[in-house]
Amino acid sequence: MMKILNATIDLKSLARQLEPQGPEAALRWAIAVFGEQLAVATGFGPSGIVILHLVSQIDPGVKAFYLETDLLFGETHALRDRLQERLGLTIEAVHSSLDLEEQAARHGESLWKRDPNLCCYLRKVEPLRRFLDDKQAWVTGIRRDQSPSRAATQVVEWDAGNGLIKVNPLAAWTSEQVWEHIHAHDLPFNPLHRLGFPSVGCWPCTRSVLPGEDLRAGRWDGFAKTECGLHINGDNGNGHTEPAYHAAGKP
Ligand code: SF4
Repeated sequence: MMKILNATIDLKSLARQLEPQGPEAALRWAIAVFGEQLAVATGFGPSGIVILHLVSQIDPGVKAFYLETDLLFGETHALRDRLQERLGLTIEAVHSSLDLEEQAARHGESLWKRDPNLCCYLRKVEPLRRFLDDKQAWVTGIRRDQSPSRAATQVVEWDAGNGLIKVNPLAAWTSEQVWEHIHAHDLPFNPLHRLGFPSVGCWPCTRSVLPGEDLRAGRWDGFAKTECGLHINGDNGNGHTEPAYHAAGKP
């Protein structure tokens, strides 16, 4: 049971109530309850695009943000601009406290080649925690079908790692549903998905996937790392932000 805004909320019970009502219901609840204390995250992957689209239809004034690692593909920045224009949203860039030159001076050049966990911590995990520090809830696009580590995702849950409520409106959706929504509403998406990049993150840690390879083989190639840390409660930096891609879901 969580005590928020002078109300005690049973998150498990609430999740059970909201999930059958669909993603819009979860978003409407979050926007109504948390208002300016709510932040909507996106990594500009397919699920994040759906979330932004739904939010724009409910209240385009809701605070939306992404983690600007300074290492994103040009295609991702172009998509950000198209989405802002199309949906009428402002998507705030959340930066690391270190720019790339400062990071190189403190930790050496190309940290991602030697210690991607530290690089993800500096450029994603710590900036997210700092940004969420004065928020009461955040919205993500994660889904149960994305990976075993996300299989227990609830529509509403407590995020112990960041210390606030986490709302996952698409928790029960499949990759097929996400792409159906994108195509049905003619929403823009990253052209790299059609060029062999099923999961798009920072350019140093993303490569195209070859036929027969695991769909996540293109992320952190050469490292055991599969996650960048944003969606693991209490995690120390070994997790990932980018939405996973599934064979059944087509761009
Ligand atoms: S994905 Fe790669 S480049 Fe981006 S923050 Fe993580 S380690 Fe650094």
